[in-house]
Amino acid sequence: MLCNALVALLPLLLQPVSAVPLENLHTRQQSTFVDCLSKGDVPIVLASDTSFSQLSSPYNRRLKYTPLTITLPTTILHISTTVKCASQFKIRVNARGGGHSYSAQALGGEDGHVVVDMQNFHDVVYNQSTTYAEVGGGARLGNIAQKLYDQAKRAIPHGTCPAVGMGHPSLGGFGISSRNWGLMVDSIAKVEVITADGRLRLAKPTYNGDLLWALRGAGPSFGIITKFYFNTVPATESIVNYSYSFSGLSASNAAAAFITIQKFALTAPKELGLGVSLWGSGTNFEMSGAYYGKTMDDFTSLFQPLLSQLPQPSSSTVNMKGWIDTLIRFAGASTLSVPETGYNEHTAFFAKSLVTPQGSPLTLEQMTSFFNYAATKGPEASNQGLPWFVIINLYGGGNSAITNTALLEQTSYGHRDTLWNFQLYATINNLSPASNASSITFVDGFDRSVRRSGDGAYVNYADPTLSPDESHTLYYGEQYAKLSQLKKKWDKNQVFWYPQGIYPAP
Ligand SMILES: Cc1cc2nc3c(=O)[nH]c(=O)nc-3n(C[C@H](O)[C@H](O)[C@H](O)COP(=O)(O)OP(=O)(O)OC[C@H]3O[C@@H](n4cnc5c(N)ncnc54)[C@H](O)[C@@H]3O)c2cc1C
Repeated sequence: MLCNALVALLPLLLQPVSAVPLENLHTRQQSTFVDCLSKGDVPIVLASDTSFSQLSSPYNRRLKYTPLTITLPTTILHISTTVKCASQFKIRVNARGGGHSYSAQALGGEDGHVVVDMQNFHDVVYNQSTTYAEVGGGARLGNIAQKLYDQAKRAIPHGTCPAVGMGHPSLGGFGISSRNWGLMVDSIAKVEVITADGRLRLAKPTYNGDLLWALRGAGPSFGIITKFYFNTVPATESIVNYSYSFSGLSASNAAAAFITIQKFALTAPKELGLGVSLWGSGTNFEMSGAYYGKTMDDFTSLFQPLLSQLPQPSSSTVNMKGWIDTLIRFAGASTLSVPETGYNEHTAFFAKSLVTPQGSPLTLEQMTSFFNYAATKGPEASNQGLPWFVIINLYGGGNSAITNTALLEQTSYGHRDTLWNFQLYATINNLSPASNASSITFVDGFDRSVRRSGDGAYVNYADPTLSPDESHTLYYGEQYAKLSQLKKKWDKNQVFWYPQGIYPAP
């Protein structure tokens, strides 16, 4: 559902990178910085180049930041030179992967950064002897999944949208298989990374282990990852895909149904992926997901007791699919393959997330407030040109692979006690200051209808209306203090910076 719009259009090829017209440069700082890059033969794109507009456009056009310069490296040395020159001239640096950050943070969250566009680093190679997937820092999820399957019928857990890039595993990375296999960040075995001093380093548990910990959850604040080594698993071919729609329920009946689902979810086996989605029409909702490595009989035995306690579904679909077809079904796409270079899809939206702890399951009262908001404000928003959806993904419960507190020692990802992760999202059909403001008001209200103190937020659904302090608490919780110490060690001058990134400890 989310990704339909992303895969349909033909890719636009990049314009060739033009020579640097120094006479066009406006500031002394820029000319000396560009000189530095040019001496290293770094391919650069300036504001005067025809491809600049496309390369500086984020996926989410609600936000607009103008980089000083974009580099399009084809070698590790180009990345290293860019970071060294930026450090020398005190210009902030951001890697751009798939460009899908909700807050356009690959552009730096302010004007004047150098953006290192990683699109030429898109190789995906399965190494038979190590069983690692060796993946470039500019690859996209759909191509990774398809290539790994084609090369060796192997898989990594990750999100639904084929065009999302490597910011996803650098910050978390949830997919419908994650309760079974973990977040994508949990599959990172080691990385090669350019750090703030411009050096290429290996980070693995036994060497630069503290850097690896920081990169596994807060990657963009610690370096530019040129290559990921992911653990892989055999692609499961026996997967029950299911979907049940419920319509015509009052807000209180919808809330009661959700609480029944939550009771089931609290002990659900890890092989089950489950989400509850609603959109535009108010309280109608869908419960859908996938049951990995299971038969139809397994599914019936697991689900029959739950279904017998829920209202009669208005429609349902249950069928068996393989790994790739399951990914395609959740992408809402016809293929997983997306352009490796020249990707040029955009939309405009505002979104927030709400992460609820396992120790505090949602109450009937809280979910009634949530469904009341959907029933009253939801149709109004749709009519105002703000089509919206909410997806409530199950992270925890039972023996989920995500909610293993031992992982706090291995990754800096902040939430290992999550039960639900709500994504609250409004598309802005006609972008204007008024519709922008309305989208924020609507989504904020949705969030407040159910948020309790102690709930968190998901760093990969970045909400740029949060202050740095708020975001650090909501995204990272207790992990932030250690991240801040490590920022002081690895990047005290904040070469890698965006508003909600990690700040060095004093
Ligand atoms: C349509 C859509 C569907 C989505 N579906 C899911 C989902 O199912 N599950 C989920 O968990 N999330 C999902 N997301 C959120 C997504 O995981 C994040 O937005 C993610 O950070 C995007 O990564 P990117 O590389 O595409 O974006 P970018 O904007 O390029 O990068 C995001 C951040 O990562 C940094 N970064 C990128 N590449 C590197 C690198 N090689 N080294 C270091 N830093 C890097 C950037 O500097 C930036 O700070 C979705 C987003 C969209 C827009």
